[in-house]
Amino acid sequence: SDHNLDYPVHPEAQDWSVHYPAYFPAAEGSTQAKVEVADIGCGFGGLLVALAPKLPNTLMLGLEIRTQVTEYVSERISALRLQATEQKEGEEKMHHYNNISVLRANAMKFAPNLFERGQLSKMFLCFPDPHFKARKHKARIVSPGLCAEYAYILRPGGIAYTITDVEDLHNWMTHHFSEHPLFERLTEEELEGDVGVETMLDETEEGKKVTRNKGSKWISCFRRKEDPEW
Ligand code: SAM
Repeated sequence: SDHNLDYPVHPEAQDWSVHYPAYFPAAEGSTQAKVEVADIGCGFGGLLVALAPKLPNTLMLGLEIRTQVTEYVSERISALRLQATEQKEGEEKMHHYNNISVLRANAMKFAPNLFERGQLSKMFLCFPDPHFKARKHKARIVSPGLCAEYAYILRPGGIAYTITDVEDLHNWMTHHFSEHPLFERLTEEELEGDVGVETMLDETEEGKKVTRNKGSKWISCFRRKEDPEW
């Protein structure tokens, strides 16, 4: 449970410089970079590690509730940063994995404490725990209430990505996002060549497992609509 988790009371109270030291403080004359991509329930961090070079100027954060898994991801990222720094001169250094980090958090309770309104351009829900039994459905990471939170932290035009190997959960997530007035489902054509879709299909640990077992993967992605005019 989250009794012993520390949460900032609001996003500015979180010290992001420990997560992304290379980006803090901002260079003179430029605005401070903020997290723009969140991987909710990031597991062992495969998506973040794969996205780091693909979105080299974007700060990305994994949220994971399990302590040991979070520590594993944190060490994985530290090792990648160190390795990148030690690369021989002349080799391309790029992002050095300085743009990804992980935080232990219950994403179902505290996402708005971590992110300001409209802060995110992408959020990922990759192979969330299915909670098969009807009485467990309230534990699912998508619900009308949570869709409202996701709409709050995503900016208009931002994308919520979902993928699962459980058809029932796919239908559930698709239903709740589609019902929410601030989301619209993206068509297959719109998603063609999308870096988020390609990465979550092949680079998440769960995605790899499903490929090995020759299972199906169900995807639905939703654009955060513009706020309605009052
Ligand atoms: N996304 C990863 C992937 O595709 O390989 C991991 C998928 S795994 C089946 C689901 C992960 O979500 C687990 O690591 C679990 O600990 C985490 N999780 C479950 N509920 C969570 C919550 N409320 N907040 C943060 N993480 C959560």
